[in-house]
Amino acid sequence: MPTTRFAPSPTGRLHVGNIRTALHNWMLARKARGTFFLRIDDTDAERSREEYVEAIRADLAWLGIEADQEYRQSLRKDLYEAAFQALRVGGRIYPAYETSQELEIKRKILLSRGLPPIYDRGALNLTEEQRAAKEAEGVAPHWRFKLDHDEPIAWEDGVRGTVKFDPAQLSDPVIRRADGSWLYMLPSTVDDVDMGVTQVLRGEDHVSNTAVQIQMFTAMGAEPPAFAHEALLVGKEGKLSKRLGSLGCDSFRQRGIEPEAIIALLARLGTSQPVEPIADRAALLETFDLSTFGRAPAKFDDADLDRINTAVVHAMPYDAVKHRLPKGMDKAGWHAVQPNIATLSDVDEWWRLVTGPITQPEFSDEDRTYLALAAAALTWGDDPWGALTTALKEATGRKGKALFLPLRQALTGMDHGPDMGELLPLIGEDEARARLEQAGGR
Ligand code: GLU
Repeated sequence: MPTTRFAPSPTGRLHVGNIRTALHNWMLARKARGTFFLRIDDTDAERSREEYVEAIRADLAWLGIEADQEYRQSLRKDLYEAAFQALRVGGRIYPAYETSQELEIKRKILLSRGLPPIYDRGALNLTEEQRAAKEAEGVAPHWRFKLDHDEPIAWEDGVRGTVKFDPAQLSDPVIRRADGSWLYMLPSTVDDVDMGVTQVLRGEDHVSNTAVQIQMFTAMGAEPPAFAHEALLVGKEGKLSKRLGSLGCDSFRQRGIEPEAIIALLARLGTSQPVEPIADRAALLETFDLSTFGRAPAKFDDADLDRINTAVVHAMPYDAVKHRLPKGMDKAGWHAVQPNIATLSDVDEWWRLVTGPITQPEFSDEDRTYLALAAAALTWGDDPWGALTTALKEATGRKGKALFLPLRQALTGMDHGPDMGELLPLIGEDEARARLEQAGGR
C-alpha cells in the first residue's frame, strides 16, 4: 500500500501549484487505501512562520485533503544529526570552507568559459594542514554530500519515464550550513526513509534533487521510493505566471469557488482525461492514474475554474448547502434559485426577491390596469402562477412578454430571474397580492 506525503515549507501561503501537488499525493494514497502524511518542512527557522503552518492546515482542511498524520522537521533534528554522523563516518559528507563570494567567482569563471557551473570539489582536495589552518582561522565549515561519480543515476519516473543523470554533471550539494542548520536535501531523504514513504510525487523543478537524493537513499542503505515529477502549472498564456504563484484558497473563497470545483479541475488538469465538474471524489479517485499525466506544462485558466464551479453549484443537493443558505430558505427556495446562480453568494440577491423589499419599475397606465386586474385575479392553489397567467391570458388576450413581463416586474422588481412558477409560492399569497396591488396603483 502506498505511503505518500505533501511537504510544504511554511514560508508562505499555499498556491494553486502546491495545492495540486497536495491533491495528487492525497489521491495516490487514497485510491489505494494507503497513507498520506503532511510534513511541514520548517528547517529554515528564519523564513518559516507559524501563521503559515496554521494557514496550510486550514487550507487543506477547507479543501478536504486530510492527512493521516502530521510531521514537523523542526522536531526531528536528532534524526538528521544521526544520519549526518553516519554518512560522515562513511565518507559521504565532507566539510567545505569556501565563502559564498569564492563560490560565486568559481561559478562565473566556469560560465565565462562556457562550462557548466559544477562545484570543483576544491574542499575535498585540501590537505590536513590546510584544513587545520582554516579551522585555526576560525572558519566554520559548511557540509557537502559527496556524490558517487562511478554510479550513473537512473530511475523509472511515474510521469517522465526513464530519467538518467550523470552524477559528475552535478555539484555535490551543500546539505548543512556553517551554523549547523539544515538545507532541504538530507532531512527530506531521512524523513522519507523514516516515514516509510513509498512514492514521491512532486513538481518537475525537483528532478535534479531526485538524482541527488537517490544517492542519499542508497548511501543510507535504504531503497529509494518510486518518483514521479509532474509538469509545472502555467498560466493560460503558457508561461509560468506570477499570479499563479499567489493564487490560493483565500482568493478562491472570495470568488465563491467551491473546494470541489478546485479539486475537480486540479485532479485532471494536465492529464489526458477530460476536466469535468465531478464533485464526487470517489469518482475522481477511481479514474486517477499517473500514466495519464502529460509532460507538457498544464495550463491553468480561471475561466475553466468558473465554468466548473458553476456546474458544481448547479448540482449541489440541498442537504449539502442548507447550512450556508439565508435564514428561512428551504429546499423549494434552493431549488428555485439554484439554476440562476454562478456562486453560492449569488443566492442572497435572488432570495431578496422573495423576502423583499423589492423596487418596482415605473409602469405604463395600460400595465397598471393590467396589474390591478392581476391582483384581483390572484387565487391560491397548487400552481398559483399557472392559474394566474391562464386567467389573465383569457381575460386580456395578452400573451408572451406582454403577459409575463409586467407580472415578473411587479412581483420581483426584475426583468429576469428564477422560474416564476417556483418563486410565486415562496413569495406567498398576501405578499404577492400586495405587490400586484402596489404596481396596479392601489
Ligand atoms: N519542502 C519542499 C518543497 O516545498 C518539498 C519538496 C518535496 O516534495 O520533497 O519544495
